[in-house]
Order: sequence, then structure tokens, then C-alpha cells
Amino acid sequence: MEENNTTSSNFIKNIITEDLKSGKHKEIITRFPPEPNGYLHIGHAKSIVINFGLADEFNGKTNLRFDDTNPLKEDVEFVESIKEDVKWLGYEWEELHYASNYFDEMYDRAVLLINKGLAYVEDLSVDEIREYRGTLKEPGKESPSRSRSIEENLDLFERMKNGEFQNGEKVLRAKIDMSSPNINLRDPVIYRISHATHHNTGDKWCIYPMYAYAHPLEDAIEGITHSICTLEFEDQRPLYNWVVEHCEMDAKPQQIEFARLNVTNTVMSKRKLKQLVDEKYVDGWDDPRMPTISGLRRKGYTPESIRNFCRETGVAKNYGVVDVQMMEHFIREDLKLKAPRTMGVLKPLKVVITNYPENQVEMLDAEINPEVPEMGTRQIPFSREIYIEQDDFMEDPPKKYFRLFPGNEVRLKHAYFIKCEEVIKDDEGNVVELRCTYDPETKSGTGFTGRKVKGTLHWVEATQAIAAEYRIYEPLILDEEQGEGESFLDNVNPNSLEIVQGFVEPNMKDAKPQDKFQFFRHGYFNVDPKHTTEEKLVFNQIVSLKSSFKL
Ligand code: ATP
Ligand code: MG
Repeated sequence: MEENNTTSSNFIKNIITEDLKSGKHKEIITRFPPEPNGYLHIGHAKSIVINFGLADEFNGKTNLRFDDTNPLKEDVEFVESIKEDVKWLGYEWEELHYASNYFDEMYDRAVLLINKGLAYVEDLSVDEIREYRGTLKEPGKESPSRSRSIEENLDLFERMKNGEFQNGEKVLRAKIDMSSPNINLRDPVIYRISHATHHNTGDKWCIYPMYAYAHPLEDAIEGITHSICTLEFEDQRPLYNWVVEHCEMDAKPQQIEFARLNVTNTVMSKRKLKQLVDEKYVDGWDDPRMPTISGLRRKGYTPESIRNFCRETGVAKNYGVVDVQMMEHFIREDLKLKAPRTMGVLKPLKVVITNYPENQVEMLDAEINPEVPEMGTRQIPFSREIYIEQDDFMEDPPKKYFRLFPGNEVRLKHAYFIKCEEVIKDDEGNVVELRCTYDPETKSGTGFTGRKVKGTLHWVEATQAIAAEYRIYEPLILDEEQGEGESFLDNVNPNSLEIVQGFVEPNMKDAKPQDKFQFFRHGYFNVDPKHTTEEKLVFNQIVSLKSSFKL
């Protein structure tokens, strides 16, 4: 589909336009700052599309920065997957940074705060700090540690760094205002002790900066002009600005918040996604049922469809939930003109065409994509034995059943009309084969108008058919409200994956992992890169053909 690279006008664009016009900035620099504690999901894609998209549109730059200030949860595996996903989405970062490379500077700036009387070492426990913090209605209480001398604070902070204290024994707090109506400003903790090995800095540090202190410094060090984040951080903006100012940073990045992306039937927190992986509800972070970029890629989503979806959901200031069908709409739109058409049979049922010459195979012409004639045609074999689907036959059909039943005639797509003459069953009474006759006059493409039939079935010639496995998906989370809340595991759909065996046309022999097709009547499928082998093609259903969704 046509890709519209620019998002429609929005408040962030207005701010940037104004800043460039007034000369506040000559060039904008944005950043995408994931914490490498999981794989990226569709919500991150939204942030990527906004940050890189703005830089593209205003001739600026975007950095990729790993916000790796928490040694316990982070891993190199996640770092690599994040880089791969950003590139796959179609973006190139200007600079690649690790927040952990700034630990020295962050430490020095903390010392500066202490020297200015703006930070102190706290002896209270985490629980006591919380207790002293007060509530929305009541001001906080000042801790006895607050009145320590600068000298004592410098000494204690250095000893924290040198590993003289246990985890939780001390923290460093910014000295701001214990009675501020904004709780974030009631002397927030800015450093904590954690005797843990860090994936980048190893055992160099045993104190680590807190996000609220580290993030503004990271942005300022890199000269980020517009630091775009989600709405939960709105109340932290005064603290962000306080840190930039009192740490005497040259650059003064502006934090701008927008509403995070929420999607129906979709869990979107790395912690919960990790739980689904660890507790084996799914087969890894890239399971096609996962809303991760790698899961969507494996399911068959294209970068274009994800970018278009993210742009179309817009940039808003208030909370909303987007229907998952909107994502499906964009992949259909993208594949409609790109994906070759083909026929695949799920749950096959053998049909013998009794009046078709034995040992004859004829090749039939079929368009690769009727909407794009330039894609040309493909050849499909037809012979005396074919497969149709078990679901396309009924022995005792209800009224208005137009598929195959005894005595009824249907059209085989790209081939002939066939009529069901006889039903063969096994000892248990299961239908195992149909005997049909065909009418040579009715060949597709010859302009036959003698009579009409109501049903058109897909099929595959039996002797050359290639075995295929189909993986059909339902939403992983049943609850429309995205499975929020702690009991989200109760809403995991036990039937989210159905595995069905069948066949595909022989010209699929060259299909490669990640190739995408539109199967007649069944919708769009992707060749699964993990389960496909030399012996067997495995297809993930991306999306069915029909939708009631309207943009
Ligand atoms: P999660 O809660 O899933 O762990 P996070 O916000 O903690 O997500 P980060 O790695 O810190 O994950 O996020 C990197 C960037 O992606 C941040 O700027 C964050 O605001 C943004 N982001 C994360 N989730 C969403 C979302 N659902 N919609 C929009 N942006 C998001
Ligand atoms: Mg986070």
C-alpha cells in the first residue's frame, strides 16, 4: 500500500515547528531509550515510529540508547534483539549509546549536588522512606539524615560507591521539598546500592542511579532536544527539569508526554510478556501470538504495516485503547497487492474424478494476483485425484449450503465443475473419499455459460501436492481490556493455537521462510522461519480475509 511517511499534525510537531522557527534549536535530536530487559513490543514500535519519524520529517537525528541502569534485569540477548527489531522496522539510529557509559558522569554530578547542599545520604529503610513521604493530602516529614553536613555526605556517598554498605543500607536522595504537592519532589531517591554484576560495566559499580535521575542526564549528555515519553511521566517532569538544572547540564532537553498505545486483547508490559514466556504459555518471545515485534514478524506482519498502524493511531494526550482489528486492517492492506495468491487445503478430503482420464495431468493457468496483472500467472496441475477440505463437504447439508453434498455440483477454482456422485466411508462411518464426475465443457477461462453453480471450492491436485502444516491463531488474551490487572493469566486463551495438517500447490516448493501468500478463502499466511524444514512447510495464519473493521 501507499506509505504516508508523515504523521498528521499533532501537538508534538507543533512544539518542534515552533522551536525551529524561534531558533531555540537548529536541529532536533530525539531518542528511543528502551531498557534491555525484554523484547520490544508493538507499544515500543509506536515510540520508535514517533521518535524516528519526527527526526526524519524535520531533518533531525535519533539516537538509540539502552537505558541499562538496572543491572539485575538486563541482558545482552535483549540488547541484540532490540537492535535487530529497530532495523527491521526500517530505521537507522544516529548514535548508539548505553546509559551505563555515563555512570562516571552521573556520579560526578551527584557529587556536585551534594556539594551544593542538594543531595544527602539517607539511612532510613525503604519502608521508612515511604512512611516519611506523606500522602497526596499530607505533606511529608523530614528525615533526620536531611541535616547531615556536606562533608559527611561526601564521605558516605564515596563509601557507598566503594562497597562498604549492604544493599538497602543507604541511598542518596535529592534534597528538594518534603512538603511539595508533587510527591515526586519529596526528596526522591537518586542512587541505590546494588551489589550486582552489570552486563556492560561488570563489577565496577555497586551503586546505580535511579531512572528519574539518570534519564534527564542521559538526554542532556546527548543533547536530545525533545525527550518524548508516555503520560505516566508527566508528574515527573518537574523533577526532570530540576535534575537538568541543578546538575548544571548545558543542554536543556524538553520532556513531552503522549498517551501510550494500548490494544484490545493484548498484554503490553514486558514483565507480563516475560511471565508468559517463562511459564511457557507461549513458545518464546517470538511466538506468533506475542505482541512483540519479533512475534509479529514471525506471524507475518511487515514493517510497512506496523509503521502505518502506528502512524494512524496518532499522537494523543489522553488514554485510549485501539482495536486489534486495526492492526489486522493494515497488514491486509499491505499484503493485498504484494502477496501471491495460492490454494491450500486444510484437513484434506480425497476426491476421485471418475470420468477424468487415468494418468492424465493437465496444467491450468491461474493469475498470481488478479489485482496486479504484472505479477503474471502460475501453473497448477489438475488430474483425476484431488484434495478438497473436509469442511467443504456435508452429507446432509442444511438449506442454503452451496458447497459439496451428494448430487450437488460446485466449481473448482481455476478448473472445472464437479458433481458429487458417491460417498465412501470407513468402518466407523467417517467419510474418507468422494467420487465425483466433472464436465469438460465447464473449464475455467473458456467462457462457459451453460449453467451456474453457487459454490466455488479450492483444491490441490493429489499426486503432486506438498504436505504443509497450518498454524491458526486466536487472540492469546481473551479479555478485551488487554488483560490488565494481576489476574491476566486467567484470561489466557487455551485455544490460541490450532495446528492443522494439509497440502499446498506444488509450485510452493520454492517458498522460503517469511514468504507471504494469500490463500484462496483462508486469508494471509507466512512461512514460519522456526518450524519449516526441508520436509515440511509450516504456515502461520497472519489474518483471515474478512473484517468488519472500518477505519
Ligand atoms: P514496559 O512497561 O512494557 O516494560 P517500558 O515503558 O518500561 O515498557 P522501556 O524499555 O522503558 O519500556 O520503553 C522504551 C520506550 O518505549 C519508552 O520511551 C516508553 O515510553 C516507550 N513505550 C513503552 N511502551 C509503550 C506503549 N505502550 N506506547 C507507547 N510508547 C511506549
Ligand atoms: Mg521502563
